[in-house]
Amino acid sequence: MSATPEVLRVALALAAAGVPVLPLRAGKVPFGNCRSCTGRPPRCGGRPNMKAAGPCRCLAPCHAWAASTIDPHVLTSPVWAPVWREAVAVAYHPGGAGLTVVDLDNAAAVEWAREALPATRTVPTARGEHWVYRGTMQSANGVRPGVDIKSAMQYARWLGPGTGRMTVLPAAVRALVEKEDTTPARGEVASSLPARATWGRSVATGCRHTERYVRTGLERGLALVRARTESGAGSQAFGVARFLAAQHTGCPGPCGLVAIGEEIVAAAVSVGVPEPYARRAVTNGLETAVERAA
Ligand SMILES: [Zn+2]
Ligand SMILES: [Zn+2]
Ligand SMILES: [Zn+2]
Repeated sequence: MSATPEVLRVALALAAAGVPVLPLRAGKVPFGNCRSCTGRPPRCGGRPNMKAAGPCRCLAPCHAWAASTIDPHVLTSPVWAPVWREAVAVAYHPGGAGLTVVDLDNAAAVEWAREALPATRTVPTARGEHWVYRGTMQSANGVRPGVDIKSAMQYARWLGPGTGRMTVLPAAVRALVEKEDTTPARGEVASSLPARATWGRSVATGCRHTERYVRTGLERGLALVRARTESGAGSQAFGVARFLAAQHTGCPGPCGLVAIGEEIVAAAVSVGVPEPYARRAVTNGLETAVERAA
């Protein structure tokens, strides 16, 4: 029996805190896919949480960020053991942890962020800094010179907890990605995720619950959805939507259920559930609760 590698020790601590992790090999990149998971598109079809959702249940840490997990049994499984022995660093899936990392590659990018973005927790990197915000969004590389956004369906290297108080993902960061999205891709209203509604008293004028009660329930539900990084986040979103909507069947309303639904959709999308599917699951969940009460 050899001692637990330091990288695995770090990974387990992060996982215990609800942060999905994966190992990185030399070159600070994810381990390659196993033979049955290789190919473009992957022969296995890809994992259920990937953009093109597939059936892959491979036990190895295949498919980069999509293999990230908070499950200690997976992290310490025999299949992952040789991987940890070779691993040189730990990465995490920011979206799965409800976070967004603004990856500033160099001094000029850091300089820009200090002028343009609200202060938050920062982590020093080799040549720049990671600015970590609470909240998730679509990831994008090169939104400005030397600036990448790592949140949904992405991994970021874990370089320690950093310093400073973490603040909420600001519109200024969302706008960096939205700019590329201004052409409505689909016939319907362009994705409402970047500027999604958040639940608050102003949208729940007829709710008999305290704000604290609703908020706490919602945060718990969102955590449940985000914890499903391997699979099942869609059905979890359905269950959470149904459960939360059922809390309000005795309220005169409105209770802001649309905003609650939007937050659940965003949480599901952040762990890789395709948006149309997440939206359908949440709508069905909200409606099921209402029908049952009727
Ligand atoms: Zn595999
Ligand atoms: Zn696979
Ligand atoms: Zn209510």
